[in-house]
Amino acid sequence: MFTLPFDKMPYLQAIPLSNAAVNQNITLSLSVLRLDVIHNQISGNKWFKLQLYLNEALQQKCSRIVTFGGAYSNHIVATAVACQLAGISCMGVIRGDVQTNPTLTIAVAAGMQLQFIDRTHYKNKKIVQQQLQQPGDYWINEGGYGRLGAEGAMNIHQYILPSTTHIIAAVGTGTMMAGLIQAALPHQNMIGIPVLKGADMIQQDIEYLVNDSKKMKQMTWISACHFGGYAKHNAILLQKMNEWWQLYQLPTDKVYTAKLIWAVFDLVEKKYFPAGSKIVAIHSGGLQGNASLLPHILKF
Ligand SMILES: *Cc1c(COP(=O)(O)O)cnc(C)c1O
Repeated sequence: MFTLPFDKMPYLQAIPLSNAAVNQNITLSLSVLRLDVIHNQISGNKWFKLQLYLNEALQQKCSRIVTFGGAYSNHIVATAVACQLAGISCMGVIRGDVQTNPTLTIAVAAGMQLQFIDRTHYKNKKIVQQQLQQPGDYWINEGGYGRLGAEGAMNIHQYILPSTTHIIAAVGTGTMMAGLIQAALPHQNMIGIPVLKGADMIQQDIEYLVNDSKKMKQMTWISACHFGGYAKHNAILLQKMNEWWQLYQLPTDKVYTAKLIWAVFDLVEKKYFPAGSKIVAIHSGGLQGNASLLPHILKF
């Protein structure tokens, strides 16, 4: 069994809610599970989602891993570096015109071959795969969506205390959420914060992976915190990101975890959580994505 290395162990960071202008909520506790620290490039949930795919590819003696992603994708960076560590070559099928940016630079430096596909053709991934497939390939869905990804993400749950009542996480493909639901204890409420607009269909993608309608009932879907859509953000969100850094030394990324932390504080302010709730927000990583912002915008 090949295991990706940790730079640093994940840990729970307590966030004092009394500092957040919500001191009526002193009976709540909030912690952030810092998965962003585990590896510089195989960040956060990608470390967990990739683990079993990598092992299957190695077991099947595949010669190349191929996956899909946008030009700023955390999944692309993580796959490139994970494949480098596992000693298997890889290719990233990148949405859009030939380009370069900090994300793709890291991927290429790790040895990933890039294949750019224009947005129209990218939509039909089956056809793209048929055209690019070579013998010995192991294909991973965009964002690592799939059963093995969810099974890997189940391992995130071991870092959360059993007394936790609410687990809240950002949702992209829903793979991490599916794993968290599968691993959840019966008393735990899972809250999914989709970062895409009009993402209600993703609940079905999650249900497909969880494959247990009773467990699915533990999830609540809160879809009002996407800030206009995937990777969309505004000055207020960026200002909040700086504030959370200054108050708590909590770095967030603009695509996923900033929207998650926004949602957490919003729910606290709206008194969504019953007194005594022990809330854990999953910091799923992805800080490399901030590199696409102008350098003076963030204080971290
Ligand atoms: C990929 C990613 C997600 C989304 O995970 P899914 O399993 O696709 O839902 C959330 N947060 C960060 C930081 C990510 O990079």
